[in-house]
Order: sequence, then structure tokens, then C-alpha cells
Amino acid sequence: MYTLPPSRQIKWHSIRSLPPMSMEQVLHMNGEGEETSYAKNSTFQRKVILGTELILEESIKRLLHQTTYKSNLKVVELGCSSGPNALLVVYKILGIINETVMSLNREAPILQVYLNDLFGNDFNGIFKLLPDFYQRIQERGDNVGSCLINATPGNFYGRLFPNNCIHFFHSSSSLHWLSQAPEELTMGEEPLNKGHIHLTYTSPAIVYKSYFEQFQRDFKLFLGSRSDELILGGSMVLSFLGRKNALFEIGDSGVLIGIVLNDMVLEGLIEKTSLDCFNMPLYCPTMEEVKQIIEEEGSFTIQTLKTIQISWNSHLPDDIDVSILDNKVRGDLISKSLRAVMEPLFSFSFGKDIMHELFTRFGRKISQIMEIETLQYTNLIMSITKR
Ligand code: SAH
Repeated sequence: MYTLPPSRQIKWHSIRSLPPMSMEQVLHMNGEGEETSYAKNSTFQRKVILGTELILEESIKRLLHQTTYKSNLKVVELGCSSGPNALLVVYKILGIINETVMSLNREAPILQVYLNDLFGNDFNGIFKLLPDFYQRIQERGDNVGSCLINATPGNFYGRLFPNNCIHFFHSSSSLHWLSQAPEELTMGEEPLNKGHIHLTYTSPAIVYKSYFEQFQRDFKLFLGSRSDELILGGSMVLSFLGRKNALFEIGDSGVLIGIVLNDMVLEGLIEKTSLDCFNMPLYCPTMEEVKQIIEEEGSFTIQTLKTIQISWNSHLPDDIDVSILDNKVRGDLISKSLRAVMEPLFSFSFGKDIMHELFTRFGRKISQIMEIETLQYTNLIMSITKR
């Protein structure tokens, strides 16, 4: 049986949920070169991006019709991560702009793109994709010189750009990440969310309240910062994980991996105190919660706000025929895809050595649950305009 290495046998008083500064350094997706890299395991997030195409098109067209821009448009991709998704939206936006200006008989603006993510992000992985990207836009007939790409490392819960200079922000699958796990959960004598790593259907009201208030603070800070940076009439298209109704369900990845971690505590593979003090810095709001926060913050008018359901099967690579896939293989592949997102955070708190075991068990758990439930994510999609 696997035993805990001495370096991981930490006294519980030394364990805390991650303080804000270290979140900025710890949170990143798995980098290039690994089998479990985000670049190779982000099919699900690509499908989320494709699910927002219509809203993206409406929003860019509205921007081109209503705002005054001279010869250039500044567009930002927030939480771009590494891999092909980072450039997918840029490709789409450039296509929509060129089509629209042609129909308006106007000259195409120069598109200045800023790719943003946290400091630990593998920006080099994106830069290496640029020659191929430029070739693809050239093949489509776009002027390569009309799209200039920059990187802006930094925390989107705060300012990234000067006042009134950005026309459009886009962000997909990023804003469910909080700036930190709620501090109150680990401030007292006893951790408040013992035995869980996230909100579950049995969480006490105080745990829900702490998570919601953290999301509220973060999202308001995000909206305020973007509103300062946007030109008047500038807009944002955002999509991130949400939940259908007030209750948290069993088919939530945080709940499922929490069950696996608990099993591993029972078998002595993970310290109970590490689990009791760990809280995922993630929150999936309902549509009503998001609407309430946007209205309270007051800088934006909501153009569109809706939810879409996306199956967990969307984690599977496109070339796989889902209908004939064995449930165990399916669980393994889905676990691998989630590993690309969760590993750096879990590895920091529970130790790198345990990651293979954790995600192998997680795959098994997913396949068991899939036998009895259709697992789906709720994604919130919105288009909002600066007032
Ligand atoms: N948009 C990409 C990546 C989604 S993964 C896609 O759709 O595939 C989420 C990304 O958000 C990660 O790369 C993570 O580092 C980034 N992120 C999370 N919190 C952030 C913050 N506060 N500031 C900037 N980026 C953040």
C-alpha cells in the first residue's frame, strides 16, 4: 500500500487554504509537453467556446456598429491558458470583424489582441502556435499584419490596462476560479468545511455564505476593473461554470473528487488534516446570483444572459466514438482531462507523488457514477455592455 512520504506529514496548524498571493502563483493549467497538459486536454473548454459563437458574433457586430473606433480595435482574451483554445476566439473575432466591415463597406481595423493569464501560465506554449495561426488567417484571406498579438500576464481580479482603452473583453471557463478560497473557512479553531473540499449538497449554510460572498467580492472587483478599462459602449462576452439551481449536485467534479480524497484519507494515503483545511478556490453561481451582482455593481447593461448544458462526454477527444466507448475508458479519459486543470492545485496541497493514484481513482469514480447518472455541466453565458 502507498504510504505518506515524510515530507507530506505536515502538522495541521501549518496547513491553510492558499493565501491570495500564492493563488496567483499556484493556479495554472498543466503546461506543455506532458501527456496531461491542458493543451492536449481542453476539448471540453473548446466546446464551451463554440457554444458561445452566436453571442460572440452579435456582440462584435454591435460593437462595430455602435462604437467609434479609429483604425484599431483592442481586444483582450482573459484567462487564455495555453494551447489552441487561446487563439480560437481570436480567430473567430477576426473573421467576424472582416465579414462585418466588408458588408459595411468600411476598412478593416487593425486588431490588437492581449492574451491574459496568471504568472505561472505557459505563455511560451501559445507563442509557439503563432506561426501556424498567422498562416491559417492568411489562408482564410485575412491580412496577417491586421492582427497583432501581445501577452499581458496578471490577475484579472484587479487592473490590467489603462483607463478607457479596450473595446472588447472575452473570457471562457475562467471566472469560476476565485481569487482565493474563502479565508473564514480556515480562520477559526476548527476548519468549517471539514471532510469536504468544496460546496456539496450537505454543506452548512455558513460554508455556502462564505463561498458566495467571496465570489461576490471577486466578480464585483472584476466588473469594476473592466469597466474602467473599457471605452464607453465597449463590451464583454463571458462564459463560466454555473449551476442550474440553488442546490449542489452529486455530479459536480468537486463533490466527486472530494469523495475520492476521503477514501484516500481512510486508507491513510492522505492526512485527514490536509483534507479538512483544503477548499477549492472555485464557485459556480446560478444565473440569478450573477444577474444580482451585475445589477448591484452597476457599470454594465446585460444584453444576454443564459445557461447551456454541456455533457461530461464533451471532455472526450473528438475522434472517439462515444457510443461504443467502454465506461471505464470513458472515466479514465474524463479524469485525464480534469487532471490538466486541477493537478497543480491538488499537487501543491496533497503532494505530487499521490497525483497518479488520485486521478486513477477519480476516473473509476466517474465511470461508476456515469452508470447511473447523465453527468452535465451548467455553463453561464453572458454579453454585457459598459454603460
Ligand atoms: N480560456 C481557456 C482556458 C480556461 S482554463 C479555455 O477556454 O480553454 C482557466 C484559466 O483561467 C487558467 O489558465 C487560469 O490560470 C486562468 N485564471 C484563473 N484565475 C485567473 C485570474 N485571477 N487572472 C487571470 N487568469 C486566471
